[in-house]
Amino acid sequence: STQEQTPQICVVGSGPAGFYTAQHLLKHHPRAHVDIYEKQLVPFGLVRFGVAPDHPEVKNVINTFTRTAHSDRCAFHGNVVVGRDVTVQELRDAYHAVVLSYGAEDHRGLEIPGEELPGVLSARAFVGWYNGLPENRKMAPDLSCDTAVVLGQGNVALDVARILLTPPEYLEKTDITEAALGALRQSQVKTVWIVGRRGPLQVAFTIKAPRPRKRLMELLLRAAVEKPGVAEAARRAPAPRAWGLRFLRSPQRVLPSPDGRRVAGIRLAVTRLEGVGEATRAVPTGDLEDLPCGLVLSSIGYKSCPIDPSVPFDPKLGVIPNMEGRVVDVPGLYCSGWVKRGPTGVITTTMTDSFVTGQILLQDLKAGLLPSGPRPGYAAIKALLGSRGVWPVSFSDWEKLDAEEVSRGQGAGKPREKLLDPQEMLRLLGR
Ligand code: FAD
Repeated sequence: STQEQTPQICVVGSGPAGFYTAQHLLKHHPRAHVDIYEKQLVPFGLVRFGVAPDHPEVKNVINTFTRTAHSDRCAFHGNVVVGRDVTVQELRDAYHAVVLSYGAEDHRGLEIPGEELPGVLSARAFVGWYNGLPENRKMAPDLSCDTAVVLGQGNVALDVARILLTPPEYLEKTDITEAALGALRQSQVKTVWIVGRRGPLQVAFTIKAPRPRKRLMELLLRAAVEKPGVAEAARRAPAPRAWGLRFLRSPQRVLPSPDGRRVAGIRLAVTRLEGVGEATRAVPTGDLEDLPCGLVLSSIGYKSCPIDPSVPFDPKLGVIPNMEGRVVDVPGLYCSGWVKRGPTGVITTTMTDSFVTGQILLQDLKAGLLPSGPRPGYAAIKALLGSRGVWPVSFSDWEKLDAEEVSRGQGAGKPREKLLDPQEMLRLLGR
């Protein structure tokens, strides 16, 4: 049975879900081999491309992931887009089990008129830009206006507002890209409104605290009414920048400038809350409010996409239908992380959820529910990829790029200067 032989398992995606699932499988099975496929040339998903540069401590999980990648029963294969370069069915044929941990790569649209105007950006793309996501490296957002509006009141909205308002000298020693730092130095943005449909009790910010809702309210109130201390006042004085939360406002339309060429404001419908508890809904009162601004960042959520026609997908919930990580109706296929639960929750939530998927998979293996007989694993996939002209990169390739980034950052006192161009990365690897 697969119990005595080497279970060949692969994970799609190298963010927290992929790495924590791999970690669990390797720790709790003495022989399992885990291959991690990743579409980017570099690992770690949103830990690298999402987490804000001024929160370096959050990125310490990379040390744990690196230990997993160094296991002699684990291999990283970057530069492989599953669904394009190799199908999920091909992976299922080559492995005893496949875990889909490919996150939420898209964003939810506002679906209001004017959304396509220059000056309206998704928070996802803006975050990708300041964090060096290759596809967003050329974004060059126009920060010449004095007011920006962030639509949505979750953690990402707060990150984006904070990056827009933090004096650039506080970001100089982070891993923010040099291009973003340059643009922020030139930025004229002085006020950021963070707009939400619902009230203060419904915001989606998370904090590390017991009884978080109560604590969150205390923090919001304190920020709203407290006078800054001497040091904080001094810090704010030279750059009079401000932010504010606008509750009970729902975006109706993006207002164009007189020449129609870019955004000049946003029309908001005033809402009031109906219902109680989880069922609370924001309903329009009929009042409208126009808020002038030159930049609109929509931050109403990330969204997962279907990966491959052979994999069930729930377009409404934006997840792969699953029971505790077992993909419904597809034996041997599992999922973890944001594509399993939807795009909410911090890294530790993703960790817990990925451990559950790992545990369920090992239970199925033990119960003889996975295919018996040996499976070729990477040997078969490598041959397929080679025949298609796809050349994966390894974890030691990443370590070369990592060393290059660290050395490029040194001169400026930054932890790293991220490489942005995949072609350049491949050149550095001698490809
Ligand atoms: P991801 O991290 O998105 O990983 C998915 C991986 O799959 C990516 O590497 C992607 O490239 C890869 N992939 C996608 N499609 C394919 C494909 N077809 N083939 C191969 N590979 C593919 N949490 C915190 O605890 N603290 C924070 O400060 C924090 N800040 C955040 C800031 C932002 C802007 C965002 C968006 C999230 C933040 N989070 C934070 C939440 C945290 O990032 C998530 O909980 C976690 O990353 C979800 O893990 P995941 O592995 O499911 O998805």
